[in-house]
This record gives sequence, C-alpha cells and structure tokens, in this order.
Amino acid sequence: MRQMPDFNPHDNIEGKDKDLDGIIRPQELEDFTGQREIVSNLKVYIQAAKMRGESLDHTLFHGPPGLGKTTLAHIIANEMGVNMKITSGPVIVRPGDLAGLLTSLEAGDVLFIDEIHRLSPEVEEYLYSAMEDFVIDIMIDKGPGARSVRINLNPFTLVGATTRSGLLTAPLRARFGITCPLEYYDTGDLVKIVKRSATILKVEIDDSAAREIAMRSRGTPRICNALLRRVRDFAQVEGNGKVDIAITKYALDKLRIDTRGLDETDNKILRTIIEKFKGGPVGANNLATAISEDQGTYEEVYEPFLIKEGFILRTQRGRIATDLSYKHLGIKRGAGEDETLF
Ligand code: ADP
Repeated sequence: MRQMPDFNPHDNIEGKDKDLDGIIRPQELEDFTGQREIVSNLKVYIQAAKMRGESLDHTLFHGPPGLGKTTLAHIIANEMGVNMKITSGPVIVRPGDLAGLLTSLEAGDVLFIDEIHRLSPEVEEYLYSAMEDFVIDIMIDKGPGARSVRINLNPFTLVGATTRSGLLTAPLRARFGITCPLEYYDTGDLVKIVKRSATILKVEIDDSAAREIAMRSRGTPRICNALLRRVRDFAQVEGNGKVDIAITKYALDKLRIDTRGLDETDNKILRTIIEKFKGGPVGANNLATAISEDQGTYEEVYEPFLIKEGFILRTQRGRIATDLSYKHLGIKRGAGEDETLF
C-alpha cells in the first residue's frame, strides 16, 4: 500500500479541488495541449460528422490515468454541440440500467462510459446492438408471458475510456470506429499545461518553477495540476504568494515527490526488482505479486512510464532494472550483476 501522509496526486479529488478541476479542464480542442495526432484526427472526424449531420462514430480512449480521457470526452460533446451523459462500467449493474440511459439520449448525444472494461458481460452484450444499429431489445414480463420488445434509439456516440485496454473484449473493441491511445506528456507540453492552469487560478509563476513542476509530474496533466495547487498553498502560507523555484522545490520536497516525479509505488517497483530479484530479469506476474498489485495494473498503469523514462527494460526473459534505477535509488550494483549481460 502506498503511504503518503497527506498528499497522493493519483487520488481522485473531491470538494474544492474538484471544483477547481472543472474550471481548469480545457473545453475545446484548441485548448488541449499535447496528444497532437489524436487532436488533429479528432478535428477531422468531428468536422466531417458535423458536415454530414451525423453523430460522431463511437470513440475509445485508452491509456494510464490522468492523461485526458474524460477531458476529451467533454470536448467531443462540446465541439459537436450536444449533451453528454456520464457513467462508469461498475455503476451499470443490470441491462435495465443501461436501457434507461440509452433511451434518455437525444439525437447525437454522447454517452461517456468511464472504466468501460468493468462492464459486466451481460450489460456489454446488450450494448452491441445499441452501438451497431441503435436498437435495444427489452424483456417485458417474466415467466411464460415474457416477450422481448425492440426499441429504436436516437443515434448517439458512445465514448469509452479505459486504463486497461487489455481487458476489453474483442467484440466490444471492434465496435469502436475511432480508437485513441493516449501517451504520457513531454515536459514542454506539461509546462504549457501548468502555465495555463496558473493563469486560470490567478497564480503568478516563474518559468523555472513551472518547469520543475512539469518535470516532477510523471508525464501526467492531472498530477501536474494537483502539484500546482499544493505548491500554491505553500507559496501563500510560507512564501510571498508567488510560485518561484525556491518555494516550488521546498513544497515538492515536503510533498515527498521525488526529483524524477516517481511516486512511492514506482520506487517500490524499482526497489523490488533490485532487492528481491537481484535486478532481474523477473516476470511481470512475479513482480506484481511481490508488490501486491494486479499484474494488468502493473503492466498498463505503472510500467509504461518506468520503461519510457528508462528505469526498466522489458526483455523476453522479464523485467530488468537499468543503471538509472540503481542510481536513482542510490544502490550499488552487486558483484556479478551486469545490465549488459542481458
Ligand atoms: P483521465 O480521464 O484520463 O483520467 P482527465 O481527463 O480527468 O484524465 O484529466 C485529468 C486532469 O488533467 C483534468 O482536470 C484536466 O484539466 C487535465 N488535463 C488532462 N489533459 C490535459 C491537456 N491535454 N491539457 C490541459 N489539461 C489537461
């Protein structure tokens, strides 16, 4: 379990921070930084659908948490000029729940299903005809009098989001006409995001401070915004209100955000490979068990960033901690262990 005394940037935010989140969420594709290929393709698809007077094709966003899946769903509805209903996989328990949602949609509306990989098989199957032909069959009565009635739906756009695309069934995946894999953001894009959020929140921030926050945000806009809010608190109470590099470094250290932006689980993963598995290679299943995580979550949520940043190598024989990991944790490579051997 992660132990952070008072701050965990991965946590879902509630209360006042959640309100602020609504304010700083980009509303249009123009305001959405990064993910350039996805943004430019979406612009074309949205414009084309509008020119034809049709609803946008069903769209799937997948990638680690906090990269902008929900934001893009909002933007699609906004740019298409339609309403959006929001739900999530585990909330739709029975097909009846889904039928209620689908029949309430007006022509062109967006239905956003977060965590779509968590739909029950029964509900998922029900979604197929709705997505494909905009019809659903509802059972009326029970027992011998039971019969099914076909209901026509208004054409709608299903926008699905998932952190675990590996868990989506092939039939569901095949019903999305547009699939967008979201990537971690580079520092330049995160700097733009921090500065934009700071402007909206009316926080004065130095370039070097914005860069420091961006670099320590694990490539993730949600973390970047959460860090900005907390650094702002320190600047107000313990500084002069202005976010400069000194108060930023001070606040980030207090928050125990490490210099590379890795959180406690990331560090635990690296430490486990090095200390329990002699630096690797270790299979993903054994590694996940050792850190008490689900293998899929390890592979789809944590590992991609650690590989991207060069902390872990993924080989056919398993995961290996690189020299960078040893250096990061301040551990000396033991005798006989050599990364080049693998
Ligand atoms: P996800 O649904 O992928 O978990 P969200 O869409 O909820 O992520 O994004 C998390 C937060 O990060 C949002 O509050 C949003 O303001 C911000 N955000 C995400 N992507 C961007 C972006 N490309 N530009 C600016 N802000 C972003």
